[in-house]
Amino acid sequence: MKKKLAVVALGGNALLRGNQIGTIDEQEENTTQTLENLVFLINEGYDLVITHGNGPQVGNILMRNDAGEQMYGIAQMPVDICVADSQGGIGYMIERMFRNVLIHHGISKNVVCLVTQVVVDRNDPAFNDPQKRIGKIYSREEADNLSAKRGWIFSEEVKAEGGFRRVVPSPLPVDILNHDIIGDLARQGNIVIAAGGGGVPVYIDEKNDVKPAEAVIDKDRASSLLASMIGAEEFYILTDVPYIYINYKKPDQEIKEFLDYADTLKYLNEGHFARGSMAPKIEACLSFLSSGGKMAVITEAFKLADKKYGSKITMEYEK
Ligand code: ADP
Ligand code: MG
Repeated sequence: MKKKLAVVALGGNALLRGNQIGTIDEQEENTTQTLENLVFLINEGYDLVITHGNGPQVGNILMRNDAGEQMYGIAQMPVDICVADSQGGIGYMIERMFRNVLIHHGISKNVVCLVTQVVVDRNDPAFNDPQKRIGKIYSREEADNLSAKRGWIFSEEVKAEGGFRRVVPSPLPVDILNHDIIGDLARQGNIVIAAGGGGVPVYIDEKNDVKPAEAVIDKDRASSLLASMIGAEEFYILTDVPYIYINYKKPDQEIKEFLDYADTLKYLNEGHFARGSMAPKIEACLSFLSSGGKMAVITEAFKLADKKYGSKITMEYEK
């Protein structure tokens, strides 16, 4: 039997739930529960690459950056360093939790976490239209000062509390450094954690040097690109809903369990999937399938092993 390779993207919720404050105990408990749900894939013979989000964690790192500068005059680190920090911290945590889960199931495997740089195009239009809100909420005066001092761009908060948040570009990922090593390690039977938080954003300059980009990359898009580049057969996006729905949160909401490419694209174009949450996941699944992937699954992090849940998208309908 040819072994299958799966890329599993863990959403914010797989690590930290909305109603939690993010203590390490909470994150470890959620992570363990999520990883328990992946054991069946290993038992079915899959090789695994794990990717993960970093929204709440990198937000906390940025705020510590700010507080450190205010209180102790510690130099702020740029966004790429903050993303790399989050990959290290979260990746280490997933690695240790996974080792323990495997031991409890009597499975012997290496688990390795790789700090991963993801290449973006410096001419990506996103650089002229930064949209992704990061870090703390500032007053107008603070925001004006930071704009003048650092060239940061701010956007007014629409929420009741008001204030201003820094916005950075979210360009498309175009290449993943070391993707061949990630694929090889996984196919040798090692569990690889990579491309956390969408990857550390870098670009290649005219001298072919690798340079940091002050940006963030969508983790679903980066995970999909990685899955395609390493030739994974299956792509799992674990989040906080058990299925995708059409007419979501409307009286005629409908579960979609089995979908083909054409219908999924039609629902996407009809606006059934919210921008900034479900739409990038759907786009990630479609681009995985169009570059040769066999099946993409979107489901709730703690329900994957219970196979009655989950929306399965394939090129043609499968029943
Ligand atoms: P993650 O942190 O896992 O990336 P997101 O919050 O970005 O999670 O995306 C998951 C969210 O997408 C769900 O909580 C749900 O509210 C939202 N969503 C928007 N449209 C849909 C839809 N049509 N079907 C299911 N979920 C949807
Ligand atoms: Mg998200």
